[in-house]
Amino acid sequence: MSEPLTDIPDSLFRIMIEQNTVGIVLTDREGLIRYVNPRQLEASGYTLEEALGQNPRIFAAGNTPHETYEAMWTTILAGRTWHGELTNRRKNGELCREMVRISPIRDAAGEITHFFAIKEENLYGNLASLLGGRLATVDPLTGLPNRAMLIDQIGHAVRDAAARRTGQAEDEDDSDEGRFAVAAIDLDRFRLLNDSIGHLAADDLLQRIGARLKEVLRTTDLVTRTGGNEFCILLRGKADDATLEDLGRRLLLAISTPVSLPGRTASATASIGIARFPLDGGDAEELLQHAFAALSAVKTTGGDGLRLYEPPAEAEATEFRDLSAGLRDVVDRDELRLHYQPKADLKSGRIVGLEALVRWQHPEHGLIAPGRFIPVAEETGLIVNLSQWVIRAALLQQAAWQAAGLPMVPVGINLALRHFRSGDLPTFIARAIEEFGVPPGCLELEISESTMMRDPTQAFVMVDRIRSLGVRLALDDFGTGLSSLSYLSRLAVDTLKIDQTFVRDITTNPVNASIVSAIVAMAHKLGRRTVAVGVETEGQALQLRRHECDEIQGYYFSRPATAEEIAPLLGGGSRLALDTGEGNTEQPTLLLVDDEPNILNALKRLLRREGYRILSAAGGAEALEVLAANPVQVIVSDHRMPGMSGVEFLSRARDLYPHTRRIILSGYSDIGTLTDAINRGAVWKFISKPWDDEQLKADLHRAFEISL
Ligand code: C2E
Ligand code: MG
Repeated sequence: MSEPLTDIPDSLFRIMIEQNTVGIVLTDREGLIRYVNPRQLEASGYTLEEALGQNPRIFAAGNTPHETYEAMWTTILAGRTWHGELTNRRKNGELCREMVRISPIRDAAGEITHFFAIKEENLYGNLASLLGGRLATVDPLTGLPNRAMLIDQIGHAVRDAAARRTGQAEDEDDSDEGRFAVAAIDLDRFRLLNDSIGHLAADDLLQRIGARLKEVLRTTDLVTRTGGNEFCILLRGKADDATLEDLGRRLLLAISTPVSLPGRTASATASIGIARFPLDGGDAEELLQHAFAALSAVKTTGGDGLRLYEPPAEAEATEFRDLSAGLRDVVDRDELRLHYQPKADLKSGRIVGLEALVRWQHPEHGLIAPGRFIPVAEETGLIVNLSQWVIRAALLQQAAWQAAGLPMVPVGINLALRHFRSGDLPTFIARAIEEFGVPPGCLELEISESTMMRDPTQAFVMVDRIRSLGVRLALDDFGTGLSSLSYLSRLAVDTLKIDQTFVRDITTNPVNASIVSAIVAMAHKLGRRTVAVGVETEGQALQLRRHECDEIQGYYFSRPATAEEIAPLLGGGSRLALDTGEGNTEQPTLLLVDDEPNILNALKRLLRREGYRILSAAGGAEALEVLAANPVQVIVSDHRMPGMSGVEFLSRARDLYPHTRRIILSGYSDIGTLTDAINRGAVWKFISKPWDDEQLKADLHRAFEISL
């Protein structure tokens, strides 16, 4: 190898180095500079005299991570070549990022005598100008890139995709490469959260959420903060809807996992809208617009969810025309039907009210739900006519039940904005009540919180006029319309109907659980009753009763049904029977949570004779449902479970049921992620897997002793 070099004079080598267009530095073994080539001198701004004998640190800017230097020294002292990126500083103070290759030089005996560095490439030219640009592309609070950077990067991704297409054979066209998606994330009710935990804590929460989003994603994805409580993500190479939805769910979980802030725990839920390239848009503007459109759709259904963008189809416009044409004489054609859904009292279990829900028995399309045609009726003005029909039909039914000697309970009627605003509503109601001869208290008008808030002053007037007739009033969708406490205290409604968004995850989301608890407490102070809407499980019902909510309405007790189906329920005194687990309150109860059936079985066998009532669940969500339905003193949970980790589950259990003793069962390798949870008090004890049978029994014994 060295043979052919012998006839080349050293002076030639010298010229090759002196005239090279890359910077070269030679140091001795101690790392002191022995030679710098002219290119490097020119680039750094130092003279040879200034550089000789110095440590190459004179070129360093001081902000290269020290891990980088560590890796560099370990590599070159081991006799290998190190290659990496360094941030350096010119003599005049300018910063520059450089790719550098440093190699050791050995003598004949193999000892390292020198190192030489080659500055391969000046990466970004003048870093000062880069930093200037960076400031304009970074969000100062979270350190995440901002909207400008996002738009820039989407632009790159679009151009990248175009370049790939032209360089690609047509039959390769179905690859994931070049496809990407944009997710828009907005934290729900952040203003409320901001007010309740304070701006500093809210800022902290935003930072933590930003960091969490990055953890969930791959490093190739770009997480940006684009507004107050708004994040956008560029998801590269994710093509199919199932993958995107799965990812969206993981983001939702990451956001809703409670964050411990100094002195308190906080958590938020979010709405996510996703637009896919090229399906939903061809450039940054269109993609963002559509991601936000999908996000708004999530918001209108109460938030805490995700949606992929769906274009407003031509079909929708046609449907709108069809529906509005059909609605015009729907009353005359006798195609409307009323279904009734009972409300049950959480203390007595009795049916204490009904809600009338309208359906359209369409000659071609069958039974149409109100969600599809009420908005059309509102938009076309046909709603007043329709609404009058509903009121009369419900009163007619009440009169029939009254005549049949059935117990009378108030029936709720939903009132649309337009009808609520129409001046002759009270007159119409007064006449109808008189005509059907039922007590006015048998009618309850449900008006959504946002309808009331449209024109609060007018709402006061209308509410008073309606109340003076003896008719009851309920505030529907409560919690979504942002009415203020002082406003609420002056509004003479009888009932607050707590929106389903709070009820849906009341057993799993400590924030929503405390919102419900606060709404109930406030309602009771003001002398109002509370009804929770959309209760689907026993766990939700028990949790609501624990929070002293008065009534529930939902599939758990009964779905909406026809008048014929409802009559026997009213007559037979059908009751809500909640299993309180009361017979079991005496017996100490242990909840075991693990996704592996073998482990659950082994634990059950081990603890069979310990005298505990043993409940089990295969994951965090299921376990929270079990907790809502049963009094539990001690929980033993696995850490690594799909969906919700043990730490997440136990943190929520701590917030929802602070009196439980919580033990985590986990491998030693997880200790890093567990210490935080232990420090925050989410976990009382850490037991390593595989456990020692006798030790575990003793620990459980102590846990029960302490908690009882
Ligand atoms: P709303 O007033 O919030 O009524 C409750 C809705 O939740 C009903 O849907 C009911 O079937 C549904 N629901 C009840 N329990 C559960 C449950 O456990 N789980 C789930 N997922 N849903 C449950 P529906 O009948 O489709 O009515 C939807 C909305 O349409 C109503 O919401 C109300 O705002 C409107 N609406 C219904 N009837 C009328 C009416 O006569 N006039 C007007 N203006 N609006 C009406
Ligand atoms: Mg309602």
